[in-house]
Amino acid sequence: MVDLSKRKLFTRRTSKSQLVYETGQRLPWAKADSEFIDGCTQCGKCIDACETKIIVKGSGGYPSVDFEKGECTFCKQCSYVCPEPIFNATNEAPWQITAKIEDTCLAFKNVECRTCSDECEPIAIQFSFGVGHVPQPKLDSQLCTGCGACISACPVSAISMTDCNEDSNASQ
Ligand code: SF4
Ligand code: SF4
Ligand code: SF4
Repeated sequence: MVDLSKRKLFTRRTSKSQLVYETGQRLPWAKADSEFIDGCTQCGKCIDACETKIIVKGSGGYPSVDFEKGECTFCKQCSYVCPEPIFNATNEAPWQITAKIEDTCLAFKNVECRTCSDECEPIAIQFSFGVGHVPQPKLDSQLCTGCGACISACPVSAISMTDCNEDSNASQ
């Protein structure tokens, strides 16, 4: 049954992408935001189950991932413990997000730093060497899993996450 109080909260938003923004990063394998918001009872089981403790209560009380707290190991526990049918099958891709290195990166300002690549297990961040500047990072979005390990490692918070599906979500 549709919870009208949640429906009200939902229709107050101007778009689903805005909802994602307001509630934070969605959980891996979470269904579309409208289904997630409708089905989630805010029981907190996913928060307790997360082995890296990166799931927090986002605004509105719905769980969201905070990469400032650490990385997602894709352990799938959040989807396993959830009693509601609001997660996709875990043999599908967990999400369509990739990291993005912003202009504030120290290396772009010619300050030596390679911390993010040390944390990146799939070797999605590589450094190119050149004359006259320190090694420059380059992120391969095909290799990036969106685990977020690089985010809390960056000393100047120069890495953010982008949702490749943001435009299509907004038009659903
Ligand atoms: S998959 Fe595991 S580490 Fe990632 S958010 Fe879910 S419980 Fe946390
Ligand atoms: S999100 Fe994970 S896979 Fe992607 S660049 Fe950062 S550490 Fe590497
Ligand atoms: S850790 Fe941050 S500042 Fe250092 S190279 Fe990576 S993105 Fe740049």
